[in-house]
Amino acid sequence: MFDLTEKLFYKDAYIKEFDAVVIDCQPKGDNFLIELDKTCFYPEGGGQNADIGMIDEAIISDVHEKDGIILHTADRPLEVGSSVHGKIDWLHRFSLMQHHTGEHIVSGIVNKLFGLDNVGFHMGSAMVTVDFNGELKPEDIENVELLANRAVFENIEVTADYPDAETLKAMNYRSKKELSGEVRIVTVPGSDRCACCGTHVAKTGEIGLIKLLSPQRYKGGVRIGMLCGERALADYRRKDGDTAAISHLLSAKQHEVTAAVKRVMDEAEALKQQLSLANGRLFDYIIAGLDKSDKAVCVFVDGVTPNDLRKFGTLAAAARDGFTAVFCGDDQSGYRYAVSVKDGDARAFSKAMHAALGGKGGGNNQMVQGSVTAARAEIERYFSAA
Ligand SMILES: [Zn+2]
Repeated sequence: MFDLTEKLFYKDAYIKEFDAVVIDCQPKGDNFLIELDKTCFYPEGGGQNADIGMIDEAIISDVHEKDGIILHTADRPLEVGSSVHGKIDWLHRFSLMQHHTGEHIVSGIVNKLFGLDNVGFHMGSAMVTVDFNGELKPEDIENVELLANRAVFENIEVTADYPDAETLKAMNYRSKKELSGEVRIVTVPGSDRCACCGTHVAKTGEIGLIKLLSPQRYKGGVRIGMLCGERALADYRRKDGDTAAISHLLSAKQHEVTAAVKRVMDEAEALKQQLSLANGRLFDYIIAGLDKSDKAVCVFVDGVTPNDLRKFGTLAAAARDGFTAVFCGDDQSGYRYAVSVKDGDARAFSKAMHAALGGKGGGNNQMVQGSVTAARAEIERYFSAA
């Protein structure tokens, strides 16, 4: 029977390095699972990710706990019985502690104000998300964010205790379950009290800014993104940089970029409509110049959209009796086309054309749209022969 691993992170969440003895080392795939007599590496659990770091020269990429034994996933073996020195990636851990404690405060406030429970907590590389089992209005989320940051500004001491069974029974806290043995109660006075096995900052001021982001409906409730500390700062910097760049590009004040973008989009839409009108006039002009008696003619136009090709087809079918094929593209990447006819079978026509010019497409008797791989000279030869 092995002794349980001594968990240094419960003695003090700020222990970054430690000396220990290797109890066991077992290969697992390309890695090794290392057991020590004690560790400050936090194993994945309770919504908190595992620590990463080094034990002597071994890189520790994952940590998990099984029956009270903590196993470190290492890239190389360590000699059983030897003394080793462990060091966790403190920036990684401290960020987890900030987000974890921030999540307590936010969840506690949401629970107190709206009676909703945190039903999911996920720490991804890009974003931390918290799921609540009910809807929150945008103004409610803003209010929660403000209150959470006020709890940070007050720099409140965060405590972790193991109350006796009787005290626990009478206590009101989140994540209340029928648990046997010791229950660790983490308290942020004024904001939250919750049963939790994770690591937390000692005082709320260490969390830094708490920013709630991009709420979305999720399983009948709401999923809210959350960033704390340096990650919130990095997000602010990126967005501030984006806003400054947009502001510069549009020569608009930063607080007016939304209106400026809207203006540019409106202008683009107006230009699109003007272009469409101009293309319509150009198409009328081209079509008026086509020989009305030809059974099949081809026309090449530049820089138009598939919608324009369809428009050309409609105009041509109304103006002349034979098949009219309009092409747009170049010899390197091929040509998009529309074939139209007033009374006839555009599908049969295009089928024959596909066979001769290497093409594909679809449509109805009046119009077919598609593409061909043949060069312009081949297309023109095909139509002069037809
Ligand atoms: Zn916690």
